[in-house]
Formats: sequence, structure tokens, C-alpha cells
Amino acid sequence: MGIDPLTLLLWATVLTTMLQMPVCQWQNTVESLKGARVLVTGASTGIGEQMAYHYARFGAQIVITARREKVLEQVAEKCMSLGAQKALYISADMGTDSDPAKAVDFALEKLGGLDYLVLNHIGPSPFTMWKGDVEHVKWLMKVNFFSYVQMAWKAMDSLEQSKGSLVVVSSLLGKMTSPFVAPYTSTKFALNGFFGALYHELAMKKSNVSLSICTLGLIDTDSAMEKVRGVTDLPAYPATDAALKIIITGATRQQELFYPWFTQIANLIKDWFPFVTNYAIQNSYKYNP
Ligand code: NAP
Repeated sequence: MGIDPLTLLLWATVLTTMLQMPVCQWQNTVESLKGARVLVTGASTGIGEQMAYHYARFGAQIVITARREKVLEQVAEKCMSLGAQKALYISADMGTDSDPAKAVDFALEKLGGLDYLVLNHIGPSPFTMWKGDVEHVKWLMKVNFFSYVQMAWKAMDSLEQSKGSLVVVSSLLGKMTSPFVAPYTSTKFALNGFFGALYHELAMKKSNVSLSICTLGLIDTDSAMEKVRGVTDLPAYPATDAALKIIITGATRQQELFYPWFTQIANLIKDWFPFVTNYAIQNSYKYNP
């Protein structure tokens, strides 16, 4: 009987993660996720979808959100088949004023509170040179940044009560700039700025809420691969692995995740050797004017 490659990859991921932490800490982490009340945004596809499946395998109670209701329904069904205690969905457009709060209210009502708020969604944005579309930048800020702020605030009291965790999925492009993604990178810098400040405030208030900011490199989701195909040879890392690392980071209440590991090195050296960094960045992409 053959083992399908996805199951193999999942177990390899779980095994490497376990090897990186003591067994008792791993057991505590797994135990803490059983029955945990989780809201994951941008969970119809990509890393968010993979996070929903991991939380389901851990036996969590999950609410997932994105815009496409039909796709969310299918993801929720799969979550139930994987072992979720609950898997509910709500369609929400994070580019509107009211939907971010609506999604949090739904999760609070259906789950009776929240232990994890995982902010992960992003609006689509072109992978091209900046051509002056100011309205797109405004809209993307609303989807990728303002809605995160709204949702975090809306969930804060519940997270405080539950000693819960706020997890923000960001990018290396929130720490260093790169061509073709000016609107996207702006929203990620904004996230790092806002939630970096909030991290200090929560610590100074001795808040019960932990805040984790996740810095990701290139991940092999369909949307990312579609953009960079033929433009760069940078390696892409598996979404299922990234998703598990994000969950563990939140569950162990760590301040930061860098995935893959070299994103931390890139972030460290970018200011020491700016000429080298600029050269490397500009020559990572194929561009024919
Ligand atoms: P993705 O596959 O493009 O998924 C984006 C998710 O957001 C989808 O579920 C999408 O579902 C939802 N979404 C889009 N517009 C929305 C809107 N207006 N309102 C509500 N939901 C909306 O993204 P990903 O590649 O998995 O990335 C996930 C996270 O990882 C993002 O924060 C991203 O910045 C970060 N990241 C990714 C990479 C990478 O290479 N993939 C690298 C660094 C960081 P609907 O279309 O159904 O709404």
C-alpha cells in the first residue's frame, strides 16, 4: 500500500518541527490546540487553507473566512473530516468597512470566545512596476492592513480573557523592499510597524495576549507561483510547512517567526551591506524594459 506524497510531506513536517522542540513542549502544544477556538482569515486557499487543515488535525474549533463562500464550505467540510471539533465559515470582504468586525463577531458568537486570531488574508495585487494606480494602493491598504487593525481590536477583550494569541502573517517584504510589489510591500511594512508597536504596548500593560509576527519568504501557493513564474528562480517553500510553523509560533507564544530560516539572515544583513543587498535584489528578477 503506497503513502500519498502529501501525507508523507505532512509527517516529515511534523517530525522536523518535533525535533526542533523538546517532546514535552510539543505534547503541551498539541494538547493546548485541542478544542482551541480559532479564527483564520484568508482560509479559502493558500497558507490560510493549510492552517485550517492543521488546526483541524489538532482538534481545534475553527471559523474560517474569505470572500468565496462555496470554497469556504468545501474547506470547512474537509476540516471536519480531518478532526476539527467545529468548522464554520463566514464570507467577508475585508475591503469593506463592516465585514472585518462582522467576521470577528460571528466567531465570538459561534465559538463563545477566541483563543487564536490568525490574520492572514491579502487582496490580489499585480506583480509589476508601479504605474501610478493610487486607488489600488488605498484599497490594498484597507484589505491588507486596516482590516487587520479592526479585527485585532474587536477580538482583543476576548483574547485577554482567554489568555489567547494574536498571530499576524507578514512577509520578508515587510522588512525589506523589492521591485514589482510596491503596493503589497507597503501594506506589510504598515503591519510590521503597527503590530510591532502593539507588541510593546501589550508587554508594558502585562497583557495576557501574546502577539506573534510571522515573516515569510517565497511560499509555493498558487497565487504566488503564478506571479513569479518565469520572473525569478528564487526557491519557494511548501505552504503546508509554513502553515504549521505559523501555528506552532502562535501556540508557543513566540514574538517572531522567520520562515524559511534564511529570511532572518537576509533581514539582519540588509543594512550592513546595502550595495550587496540591492545588487542581489535587483538581479533576482528577470526584467526586459
Ligand atoms: P493567497 O493564496 O493569495 O490567499 C489569499 C486569501 O485571502 C484567500 O483565501 C482569499 O480568498 C483571501 N482574500 C483575498 N481578497 C480578500 C478580501 N478582499 N477579503 C477577504 N479575503 C480576501 O495568499 P497566500 O500566498 O496563501 O498568502 C497568505 C499570507 O502569507 C499573506 O498574508 C501573505 O502576505 C503571506 N505571505 C505569502 C508569501 C507567498 O509567497 N505565498 C510570502 C510571504 C508572505 P477569496 O479570494 O476567497 O477572498
